[in-house]
Amino acid sequence: MAKKSSKERTFEGLGVSPGIGIGVVHFRESSAISVPEYRIAAGKVADERSRFNGAVNRARGQIGRLRAKARTMPGAAAEELGFLLDAYFHMLKDSRLVRGAERRVIDNRINAEAAVQAELAEISDSFMAMDDPYLAARLDDIRELARRLISNLAKSPPKPVTHVPKGSVIVAEELTPADTAQLNPKRVAGIATLLGGAEGHAAIMARALGLPAVMGAAGLLKSINAGEGIVVDGDRGRIVVNPTPPTRAAFEHRIREHKREKKRLSRLRHQPAVTRDGTNVVLQANVELPAEMTLVSHVGATGIGLLRSEFMFMNRDDIPAEEEQYRILKDLVESMEGRPVTVRTLDVGGEKTAAALMGEFGASASSALGLRGIRLSLSRTDVLESQFQAILRAGAHGKIRILLPMVSSVSEVRQARDILHRAAGELKCRHVAIADPLPPVGTMIEVPGAALSADALAQVSDFFAIGSNDLTMYTLAIDRGDEHVAYLYDPLHPAVLRLIQLSAEAALRARIPVSICGEMAGDPRYTALLLGLGLREFSMIPANIPRVKQRIREMDLVAAYRRAQIIMDQMDSGRIAMLLDDFNALA
Ligand code: PEP
Ligand code: MG
Repeated sequence: MAKKSSKERTFEGLGVSPGIGIGVVHFRESSAISVPEYRIAAGKVADERSRFNGAVNRARGQIGRLRAKARTMPGAAAEELGFLLDAYFHMLKDSRLVRGAERRVIDNRINAEAAVQAELAEISDSFMAMDDPYLAARLDDIRELARRLISNLAKSPPKPVTHVPKGSVIVAEELTPADTAQLNPKRVAGIATLLGGAEGHAAIMARALGLPAVMGAAGLLKSINAGEGIVVDGDRGRIVVNPTPPTRAAFEHRIREHKREKKRLSRLRHQPAVTRDGTNVVLQANVELPAEMTLVSHVGATGIGLLRSEFMFMNRDDIPAEEEQYRILKDLVESMEGRPVTVRTLDVGGEKTAAALMGEFGASASSALGLRGIRLSLSRTDVLESQFQAILRAGAHGKIRILLPMVSSVSEVRQARDILHRAAGELKCRHVAIADPLPPVGTMIEVPGAALSADALAQVSDFFAIGSNDLTMYTLAIDRGDEHVAYLYDPLHPAVLRLIQLSAEAALRARIPVSICGEMAGDPRYTALLLGLGLREFSMIPANIPRVKQRIREMDLVAAYRRAQIIMDQMDSGRIAMLLDDFNALA
């Protein structure tokens, strides 16, 4: 059960977003879930009871899934967390909280959420009166369960933390990309979670917001208290709770070093991204949220190579109208002052959700192999058409390109193009100004089948953008958001590299531009290899542009090309990593 200690404690996890955040523990769950209270008509009590039992069953399923994940955690963490989750499981089967809440629904004829809340209040009062530290710890567990039941009843996850005290470190079981998008980097110092992997979209969002984050930290929630001091070391994947003054001072020293490095790199802003032997490289920005635009111009990005349009559809119950999307895109395009903006059409499905769209497609829309990206858009052509119309209208204000996500066949590109033409035709009938000529339509190469048929896709595409995140996930069959298989997620696997090379060569043969916009593009470790494979356009989170630019400026392209040739003859990713790291160390 929860142990409260005032000693310094360290937890190891995955450093998914770099930097160091020092602050105070703020549980995501601590934002009060609003609990509705109302009376139930006598004839409806049975319905309310079954609604309550449904929430209990859902909680059992959730705890069961967490138990399965806990089993794969390393060492003692698996055992300890397992005990805790077992206890939750038993409490869901039979406990005062569950029995008492159900009784209140029947006897007092109140709604189930209010019944859980009232029972919890009574249990808290009686436990508090006993002044026993063991019982106080049990009370935390009962609270956690009550919170889970109430949020299941409300059929929505606990509300994300939008208003938190300045300097909060958000501690949670798991954050969705939508939760993370709502965090305010001015108030939040960092993120620490029990679940989640480095390549998941929540991690990408954390990096986009510049929030240091450690995910997949086993045992984290068990012995940590709201309000305690905490450090998130996103560089080394470490969380320190209740740091001693010397520990804190060491972290503060590293924060100062980070700032100096950032200042040094910011001098590169106006320097070209050109190799020592004179090859120009295009460095563009991936944008998840409009809030990043200041940084985009600050780091000197030459365009937006990937605008993940999902942000317009997240954290709401409806679909944004064409006009709303147009206004947002128009502002973005205008702020780029003539530099191109590549708008990717909606890529929800899998771990990225859009409440208004997902419900109707059930489990398929939440599966990574289901109705994701272009597949979902082609199932709701009305939504795609209005997104195209917003993009076409924004294209009248600057340079715009359209990018299609999760394409696996030529026919998907053809269908999308037909819808684009229909959207343009309708706008012309309405005498609305649109991009003229129509914007180029590009294809994301992120499904292995797309990479293997890149020659065919190149015939129907105006450009390619290689999404190495999904390409790695689907090629190696590894869920990019799952911390337990994170050790297998390896973009240096020869299969992934061959697919990247195949796609780049197909684009070069068809004389269409090709860029890479997965996380690999923003990591200077991979820059030489990607250049050696023929890529000359990179799109990445804005914060990474200076470091990649620095790597390009110190590099000889001919040498990078030769090293890539040696690497592509290798069968083993360990050897590939060694050959690459040796080459990088020579610079
Ligand atoms: C990718 O898969 O590499 C990519 C850039 O798309 P996303 O990360 O948004 O899935
Ligand atoms: Mg992708």
